[in-house]
Amino acid sequence: MPGLFDLPLELKDLRTVVRQFVARELIPLEQVVGPQQITPDHVRLLRGPIEAMGLWQLDLSEEFGGPGLDLLARCVVYEEIGRTSVLPMRGLACLFGPRVGPILEQCNEEQRGRFLYPAIRGELKICFAQTEPEAGSDPAAVRTRAVRRGDTYVLNGSKRFITDAWQSDYAQVLCQLDDGRGTDTMGMLMVDLASPGVAHGRREPTMMGDAPSEVTFQDVAVPVTNLLGEAGKGFALSQRWLSEGRIKRQGALCLGIAQRSLDLMLDYARGRTTFGRPLADRQAIQFMIADSALELDAARLMVHSAAARFDRGEDVRNASYMVKMSSVETACRIVDRALQVHGGVGLTHELPLEYWYRQTRSMRITEGSHEVLRWVLGRNLVRT
Ligand SMILES: Cc1cc2nc3c(=O)[nH]c(=O)nc-3n(C[C@H](O)[C@H](O)[C@H](O)COP(=O)(O)OP(=O)(O)OC[C@H]3O[C@@H](n4cnc5c(N)ncnc54)[C@H](O)[C@@H]3O)c2cc1C
Repeated sequence: MPGLFDLPLELKDLRTVVRQFVARELIPLEQVVGPQQITPDHVRLLRGPIEAMGLWQLDLSEEFGGPGLDLLARCVVYEEIGRTSVLPMRGLACLFGPRVGPILEQCNEEQRGRFLYPAIRGELKICFAQTEPEAGSDPAAVRTRAVRRGDTYVLNGSKRFITDAWQSDYAQVLCQLDDGRGTDTMGMLMVDLASPGVAHGRREPTMMGDAPSEVTFQDVAVPVTNLLGEAGKGFALSQRWLSEGRIKRQGALCLGIAQRSLDLMLDYARGRTTFGRPLADRQAIQFMIADSALELDAARLMVHSAAARFDRGEDVRNASYMVKMSSVETACRIVDRALQVHGGVGLTHELPLEYWYRQTRSMRITEGSHEVLRWVLGRNLVRT
């Protein structure tokens, strides 16, 4: 009988199965390919074992051909796959099948046929285009504008830092909508990137190894039927998807990074002798281990609690901000300590630590910078 703060037996079994899969299939690949560098060939080979575990299209409900797992179960899976560095954090490539992004929540029935189902089958690649040169953290400040002319919107503007824009078929574009009523509303348009007037700009390599790019729109004609969400509410419709993402893709994944870093730290401290004694005997090192275990346990409880509340249908927006900040910042600190305990070895490419150091640092800025999350959380708490 699971206790109040314990996972149910079936989730512990799921954790064991995925942990064994990661240890057997993915961690050995770290010595063969670089961080995030798992190849499409590897992914193809791993599809069989993933289907055997019942995890193909992990994030989808049974209605869309997925396993229909609740969020807590998926967090257990995400934590385990977070233990390896070979998987890309963002973008289109994914071990569990093509990623479909927020259109899962936003498409109406007709749009599902044109966008969602082809994306699930891997036939349509879609990037998410919100950030602009002058508007990053503040989506309300976007200047890209779509003006309605009959059955089409005419789109003008420019987006920056868009992951996979250069290899996508469509961009999901956040813009100001001018429907001729005198006031603009925010909207999400599905824009065919092969349309006349779309231009791809330079790619910008980042410290994480990925290279998002610019894309500009000049008088691009977009059918009004490509507007996501009945009355321009596409952004609001993606709130559930965003909360879920903070809990699983950032929260749970960082638990895996932090747990493996702690495991590596423990192994190394036990095995490495300096000044005639193992590092593990030194209080300075034990404090780093103790602080890491303490912070990781707290972060994990927060992830599991938020996921369970999400599964009960509660509004977890505030909890998801807390989870993202707690897990990412905890992982940052634990990776940093693990790297310190390893000395020079920690700085080499032999271990995933130097990559995770760059990755967890980046995550304090991407997909919701932590200053903005703190501000929004504080504002929400003050107002309630
Ligand atoms: C590798 C990578 C991939 C990305 N992929 C995508 C993508 O696919 N699609 C997409 O749309 N975007 C993407 N982005 C953009 C990313 O989401 C933004 O960089 C992020 O939202 C921050 O926006 P900004 O860079 O404009 O920073 P700014 O908004 O200019 O903020 C600068 C700094 O000021 C802080 N700050 C801002 N406002 C406040 C405030 N009110 N109070 C206190 N501090 C504040 C921020 O926290 C930040 O530290 C990507 C970025 C990177 C680096």
